[in-house]
Amino acid sequence: MSESAAQTILLSDYTPFGWRIEKVELTFTLSPKATRVTSRLRFVPNPDAPKQVFFLHGEQLSLIRAAIDGQTVSPEITDTGLTCAVPDGPFTWESEVEIAPAENTALEGLYMSNGMYCTQCEAEGFRKITYYPDRPDVMAPFSVRVDSDLPVLLSNGNPAANGAGWAEWHDPWPKPAYLFALVAGDLVAKTGAFTTASGKKVTLNIWVRPGDQDKCDYALDALERSMKWDEDVYGREYDLDVFNIVAVDDFNMGAMENKGLNIFNSKYVLASPETATDDDFARIEAIIAHEYFHNWTGNRITCRDWFQLCLKEGLTVFRDQQFSGDMRSHPVKRIEDVLMLRARQFREDNGPLAHPVRPESYVEINNFYTATVYEKGAEVIGMLKRLVGDDGYARALDLYFQRHDGDAATIEDWLKVFEDATGRDLSQFKRWYAQPGTPRLSFTDNFNNGRYEINFKQENQNRKSFPTKQPQVIPIALGLLNPNGDEVLPTTVLEMTEATQSFAFDGLAARPIPSILRGFSAPVILDHDASADQRAFLLAHDTDPFNRWEAGRALSKDVLVRMVLRGESPDPAYLEGLAEVLRDNALDPAYRALVLRLPSEDDIAQALADQGHVPDPLAIYRAAQTLRHAIAAHLKDRLELLYADLLCPGPYSPEATDAGRRSLRLTALGLLSRLDGGARAAAHYAAADNMTDQQGALTALLAIGAGDAQVAAFYDQWQDDRLVMDKWFMLQAGLTPPDRAVRTVTALTQHPDFDWKNPNRFRSVIGAFSGNAAGFHDPSGAGYDLVADWLMKMDAVNPQTAARMSTAFETWRRYDADRQGQICEALDRIRARPGLSRDMGEMVGRMRNG
Ligand SMILES: [Zn+2]
Repeated sequence: MSESAAQTILLSDYTPFGWRIEKVELTFTLSPKATRVTSRLRFVPNPDAPKQVFFLHGEQLSLIRAAIDGQTVSPEITDTGLTCAVPDGPFTWESEVEIAPAENTALEGLYMSNGMYCTQCEAEGFRKITYYPDRPDVMAPFSVRVDSDLPVLLSNGNPAANGAGWAEWHDPWPKPAYLFALVAGDLVAKTGAFTTASGKKVTLNIWVRPGDQDKCDYALDALERSMKWDEDVYGREYDLDVFNIVAVDDFNMGAMENKGLNIFNSKYVLASPETATDDDFARIEAIIAHEYFHNWTGNRITCRDWFQLCLKEGLTVFRDQQFSGDMRSHPVKRIEDVLMLRARQFREDNGPLAHPVRPESYVEINNFYTATVYEKGAEVIGMLKRLVGDDGYARALDLYFQRHDGDAATIEDWLKVFEDATGRDLSQFKRWYAQPGTPRLSFTDNFNNGRYEINFKQENQNRKSFPTKQPQVIPIALGLLNPNGDEVLPTTVLEMTEATQSFAFDGLAARPIPSILRGFSAPVILDHDASADQRAFLLAHDTDPFNRWEAGRALSKDVLVRMVLRGESPDPAYLEGLAEVLRDNALDPAYRALVLRLPSEDDIAQALADQGHVPDPLAIYRAAQTLRHAIAAHLKDRLELLYADLLCPGPYSPEATDAGRRSLRLTALGLLSRLDGGARAAAHYAAADNMTDQQGALTALLAIGAGDAQVAAFYDQWQDDRLVMDKWFMLQAGLTPPDRAVRTVTALTQHPDFDWKNPNRFRSVIGAFSGNAAGFHDPSGAGYDLVADWLMKMDAVNPQTAARMSTAFETWRRYDADRQGQICEALDRIRARPGLSRDMGEMVGRMRNG
């Protein structure tokens, strides 16, 4: 469908569906090219809805027969569904359709992956399975029968009955169609058990292909911990007899929370010390928790329409962040979350794809599974908690579950429970859901007669496409330090509601040094022209771990910007500040590793653009290389000591303490490789007995343009393990130096193992390359052409995956006229592709015109 022909959906057009469904009965007779789906749906008129034509969604279905109350009917069929005359009162609709899962390359609806049938229905995949009101506000209990010779046949809910070649499932909890799931395959389970707080026994299964069952222990353990945590912290118990998770190799996203039958990208389930890194283990823990937590925030209480996506996603991301913090380290988790937020969401908010946390229109909802909806959505909930306090938050959540269980709810419902539970008026706070863009916060301060006054100003970026914006409620967590480093004002949350606002603190002996936005208390950009000395002071003394890290981060950004613009050498105050942090053995090694990590090249490009400069990706790459070399030279002795001391005793464990030691040790290795030409990293690679060390050493080598022998050895060792091979592709595409990045990536795309229709493999090459800033932005434009060619190829088979990766181009306006011209040409070429998808058409149109 062409972009102009695609219809824009508006939040303001919401109308309830004219019927409710009391009961859904589905039967699947599976066959790769001709699966039969029969459905029996009991409709009753919805008294709350206006009178309307009976319309069921349906796409790419062959209708075999349809009947109402047993009488054959002939509905009118279009590309998007069917309409039919129906009785005034309740009636039973029956239909039989045929679909071809083996030909479904979009991986949406019912499809096949390595001989196994599986489904992905969120957001609008169910309409490719059968005719149905495929919208989240239509909730019903489902009974499903699956007929197939395959040994394992699964669907949502509890097992009802089974025999040779068939199985029946019943899900008693009403749910929207996007939570439907079906899996059939030759699978084996790793099984566990959980007893809920009220004594219900639940069977837990993680289903994988034979041979992978020894890689499920960590996922199972993470699931049990998630179930316990949700009971302890939110009072939420699991509500079925069985909880199934299935690992699938071909999957468009991370994982999906289908009721009682989660389907996961195998990358987020399978792990062993030999094949998965510490980061992989942490991500598995977080995603298992996220999908499990959806059972209440998403499934029991779902969204009224897709504009409310942040209702389930923002809240569930917030909950999984809390969980990971509890399992690991809160400061480290907070820093990692903010790094991600800035890298993806701030970038989005600052470009042509900016949209509110609750969008007001879309063409293709798949394009709105964004960092803004997820990560900024979670930040908004964090602010709400900060404003109402922990007790207020707990009361509001209890009320939310009590009032809305079984509902398809809205952001208005969500805010109302906070207002009712705490007595606060949240009408101004609601702007966080409606206004796009990242607010900028600046301040001036003065000190007089023991009184310290600080005046804040908030401004929203003024992109021409946005309407004028109103001041937002910004919780500013502030602490004050006196000049000897003691804290004179512990963290205090100031509530800013005006465009400019002042706060005063009395009785101070000396002018304090402010520590602002502690814990990153709001998703804003703090414009702070502190001197290098002031930042170095905070890096050494701030009692808030986030702001201590932030001070180092700001220093390194300033240093890099000055190196790029004026060719200055690295600031000694910065290098000394790093040395002090490294020497402090009381600090968590994982935290120290984060302090040593430089801002990304994309961060520096944005910092330069913010200051009115045109960033040159190659100059940024060179400055970062020079700075890493200078850090290594300045800290050499300390780094060597850390490298020797941090070796983990005993066998590999993925838990946070050991992972933190490895993280700092590998950071030291990466820096030392700048001095020794990679000799130590080569030895480290040869001695590695786990993937974290193996990948860390290979990373250190590739980052200095070495590692050819290790790349070859890695391939020989791992060529039969698809998940590990994704790393082999990703490391090369992401780390090859700019002078040969395009050549290397072109060769990778010609490699026989580049199975590009697999989304993980595609992302590990094309996605990783677009993050290799200096290579992607090669002055010849060859990097843009390469990515555009592959996006066009992918768009023809899997529009969702292609459209999401098109964000590689979203920052095009920052660059020079030549690069802008090359990118626009690439975007226009994509837009002109015959048969362009609705997904890609919308993305390219927004980027080009925004
Ligand atoms: Zn989610």
